[in-house]
Parts: sequence; C-alpha cells; structure tokens
Amino acid sequence: MGKNAVIVSKCSAYEDQKLKSSVSDIFNRLNNFDDYLKPGDTVVIKPNLLLGKSPDQVVTTHPDLIQQVIDKLKKYECKIVIGDSPGGPFNESRLKRIYKKTGLLKLAENKKVSLNYNTKSTKISFEEGFLVKSFEISDFILNADLIINMSKLKTHSFMKYTGSVKNLFGTIPGMKKAEYHLRMPEADNFALMLVDLARFIAPQINIMDAVIGMEGAGPSAGEKRKFGYIMASTSCFSLDVAGAYLFNIEPDAIPTINQGKKNGLVGNLDEINLYGDKLVPAENTITPDINESDTRNVNNLPSFLANIVNKLLKPRPIFNTEQCVKCGDCAANCPAEAIELNDYPEVDLNACIRCFCCQELCSYEAVDIKKPILGKLFFK
Ligand code: SF4
Ligand code: SF4
Repeated sequence: MGKNAVIVSKCSAYEDQKLKSSVSDIFNRLNNFDDYLKPGDTVVIKPNLLLGKSPDQVVTTHPDLIQQVIDKLKKYECKIVIGDSPGGPFNESRLKRIYKKTGLLKLAENKKVSLNYNTKSTKISFEEGFLVKSFEISDFILNADLIINMSKLKTHSFMKYTGSVKNLFGTIPGMKKAEYHLRMPEADNFALMLVDLARFIAPQINIMDAVIGMEGAGPSAGEKRKFGYIMASTSCFSLDVAGAYLFNIEPDAIPTINQGKKNGLVGNLDEINLYGDKLVPAENTITPDINESDTRNVNNLPSFLANIVNKLLKPRPIFNTEQCVKCGDCAANCPAEAIELNDYPEVDLNACIRCFCCQELCSYEAVDIKKPILGKLFFK
C-alpha cells in the first residue's frame, strides 16, 4: 500500500462487532502486513494518552479499538507494548494513573500485553531534519521493531487539529516537550518540528480513531463530535489530510499539513487514494478560533508597544475560578514559566508564548482561551 493511500472504514460506535469489522477490513487492505512482522518482534502501539481521562471523555484513543488491533497482532507472536509520554511529568506513578483511567490497565491485563514504564530517553541526531537536527526520544519507541501510531481525531488550540502527525509529539519524554515549545513558539516552526519528528519516527502503520472525536476547545476541553470512521495509512501525513477533510478544515489551515505540503511530503486530498468506504465530511464542525499569526510573539515594536499588543490584542488563557482546584499543573507545565499560582493561577502575558499547554493539560477544563475583540479585528 503506497504512502498516498488511506483506508477508510465506517464505524458508528465503540461496539465490539463494529470495531472488529472495521479493524479486519483495515488489516485486510494493508496488504503484505505479514512482511512487517516476524515472531519475537516488538510492536509498540502509541495511542494518544494526553491526560488521565476515561474513554467516554474522548480525549484519548479508545481502548476497545486498541483491543481489536491487539487481537489482529496476536497471530504474529510478537511482543506488544502500549506506551506514550503524556503531557506533564513522565514517571511510573503518573503513567499508572493514566493507564488506569484510560482503560489501558485493564486491557493490558486482559490481553496479556505490556504497558510501558520505561521513562529513559536518548538523544539521536537527525541530519535530514528540515529544522531540527536531533531529537530526544523515549527509549521504548527506539526499541520498537514496528510502531503503530494510534491517534484520536480532535481539534487543538495551538495546532488547530491533532491527528496522526501531532500524536507523535508523545514520543518526546515528559517535560522535554516544554523545551520544544520554548525553542519554537511560532505555529509554523513548531509544525515543521513535528514534521521532522514524524519523518524521524516514521511509524509503519497509522490508525486514526475518528469514531467519536472532539471539536471546539480541543485537545482536552472541547465537545464530543461523532464522525463515525476509523482510518489507516502507512503515511501519517496522508492520514491527516483525510482527517482534515473529515473534519471539514482546509488542509492548509493546519500547520503540520501545510509544512508537509511545502516540503513535498503530502498533497491535497485529490492526490490521496482513498480505499474502502466513502469519506463524507462532517458538517458545521467547530474549530479553534486561533490563527497562526496569533501565536507570533511581537518583537518588532518598541517594548512599550509590544507590551500593549501582548496584553490587549493577543489571545490569552483565562482561568475559570469556579472549576479550578488550584492543583498547580498549569504552572508546573508552562514552558515559559509564565504562570504564578497565587490564590488562583495568574499569567504574565508578556512572558506567555501562546502555546496553550495550560489549557491542554488542565484536567478540570478550567482554562479557556479568549481572543480580545480588538485582537479579532487587528489579526483578522
Ligand atoms: S487551572 Fe487547571 S491546571 Fe491550573 S491550577 Fe486550576 S485546575 Fe489546576
Ligand atoms: S501561560 Fe499557558 S499559553 Fe502561556 S506560555 Fe504558559 S502554558 Fe503556554
């Protein structure tokens, strides 16, 4: 199956028979799958495990879908490891909490597969990188013979959309992710870094959980949105183009697709070969109201003017004191150390790089991103 092929399978609910039928269809169409694996190989399944949320909160890849993929792999007598580096600290106790909440602890016990607790990482050079020439990667990913990248279709306040390419940011261990945000605060550069990372990791199989995804304030605080599909490709870039179409977002509006296209890694939907069911885009989807220009720091103005722009025009995190439990996770995970936990969190808008990690990593949906009216007019 070529890099520009995407398999599309309708799946209206997380029900065993429906999931089984879709996953069987996908594996049948991934011809030559037998060539990928030999007995004893290590297969890493890399879901989206952003936060410790239950499957019905649609933040994480659904465990029942992962289960069907595991069932398909069993005949290859390989070692199966499920792992991700979620947002925030990367340690055993946190991983255990997240595995439990997301349904993976139970799944791993039932199916007798491993959950990753190895939090070591290694710096690897990547001279072919367009922007980034080396990456710090979690060892469990580096130890894989085959990687199955299992993303969840959601919006993303910073990257507009999170699908297959963005899911691979979870191969970078824990708080190291903050360094990448700090080094590349602008959306286009951050996206190009993600493109490099996807080229480096190069997962052989990419599967997208688009049965029920998230719209609005994704990737953790948005609303459920039913799409009714599972899709797969050997290319995470092609899969994202199909995902963007399903979401009804212009592909060029998604920085990772835009950078992929600029660098010849993917084309428009009409250059993708779709196999299986007809892909019908969802109607009236709600996408984040953040543009690439919103994430650019103002640095070509005198400092007093830059301060005014940062305070009055740029989108900013707003902390909802009714929902905030003062856990401090937002402050601990802010790459720019721009949040101070006084009575409630307060942000220094001149230090804030508009990465929106505070919204993404708040387990209590207590962070909104607000775009000032003046900013809407100015950056229109
Ligand atoms: S905003 Fe969220 S992450 Fe920050 S302190 Fe409140 S509850 Fe915790
Ligand atoms: S305050 Fe929020 S948006 Fe600003 S830099 Fe920190 S985490 Fe990013």
